[in-house]
Amino acid sequence: MRVTDLIQKNEQTAFSFEILPPLKGTGIEKLCKDIEALKEFDPKYINITTHRSEYVYKDLGDGMFQRNRLRRRPGTVAVAAAIQNRYNITTVPHILCSGFTREETEYVLLDLQFLGITDLLVLRGDKAKHESSFTAEENGYVHAIELQEQINNFNKGIFVDGSEMKVTNTPFSYGVACYPEKHEESPNMDQDIYWLKKKVEAGAEYAVTQLFYDNQKYFEFVDKVKQAGINIPIIPGIKPFKRASQLSMIPKTFKVDLPDDLTQAVLNCDNDAAVQQVGVEWCIDQCRELMAHGVPSIHFYSIGAVDSIREVAKTIY
Ligand code: FAD
Repeated sequence: MRVTDLIQKNEQTAFSFEILPPLKGTGIEKLCKDIEALKEFDPKYINITTHRSEYVYKDLGDGMFQRNRLRRRPGTVAVAAAIQNRYNITTVPHILCSGFTREETEYVLLDLQFLGITDLLVLRGDKAKHESSFTAEENGYVHAIELQEQINNFNKGIFVDGSEMKVTNTPFSYGVACYPEKHEESPNMDQDIYWLKKKVEAGAEYAVTQLFYDNQKYFEFVDKVKQAGINIPIIPGIKPFKRASQLSMIPKTFKVDLPDDLTQAVLNCDNDAAVQQVGVEWCIDQCRELMAHGVPSIHFYSIGAVDSIREVAKTIY
């Protein structure tokens, strides 16, 4: 079922979360434990992140190094299928430009189609660790909107080489990312919203935000987006604050500001157990205010935060 249907037919604010595929060579058990810890809150769907391959250098011992391509977290498609079958919950795999050629994307789409997984989150993806700025694969894409075009063509029964598909099944539907504090590479908010509008015109049915800790930024963003003529659900992406080290890590990694009240409360804590409690309370307040504003759904970034999300969800749902 499409994400927009799942969140709109819900009377109360829908709950969803995202998970990270396990490291190569480790099992799915830890992931299932996390899902079971959050299942009682009736997730309408579960997102599965995707991670590009990286280059690693093997020391050959003779002064030479061998360059190998390594995908540390493979298995988004398999994890999505395993979870959808095991829990009967819609899964939403992330599909990236980053690290994928058009042909590789086509095989991912074919596998998903065979498995009956038709909801996607379409993203450019992060740059490779060794890159200072994002570089597309040869025969890959620079922006999420180009990937949307490939998916739209696939839905029409057209492969990347222009040949036609004999059988077309349920078409893919998809959402995209958006940034209440602006994407780091965008020169200004208006430009970022301009490109979001293009992604909506190309077929995005909803957008999920980058995490944020200041609801005012989300409300202002939603107002601007509406003024620009964008009328899709803007799903807030939320992550409970957990450790003092995140005071510098979160702004650096996600290019978002932390409100001063939250920062001061964290600085007053003696240890990370106290920080976690501050984070849970902040998150509860954030979610309650978002719910009071009638957001259709709250999407939780659960990586490393399942225990906090349980505390939050127990209070707000
Ligand atoms: P784009 O839509 O391509 O936008 C990137 C920048 O280019 C923006 O500044 C935009 O304004 C601009 N822009 C867009 N289109 C054009 C155009 N046609 N011409 C010129 N400029 C343009 N990363 C991962 O690697 N794996 C994940 O699983 C993952 N999940 C995510 C989930 C969510 C909800 C979010 C918010 C982010 C996620 N990311 C993930 C990170 C994301 O891939 C990065 O933020 C990436 O830098 C941008 O992705 P995008 O899809 O917004 O890119």
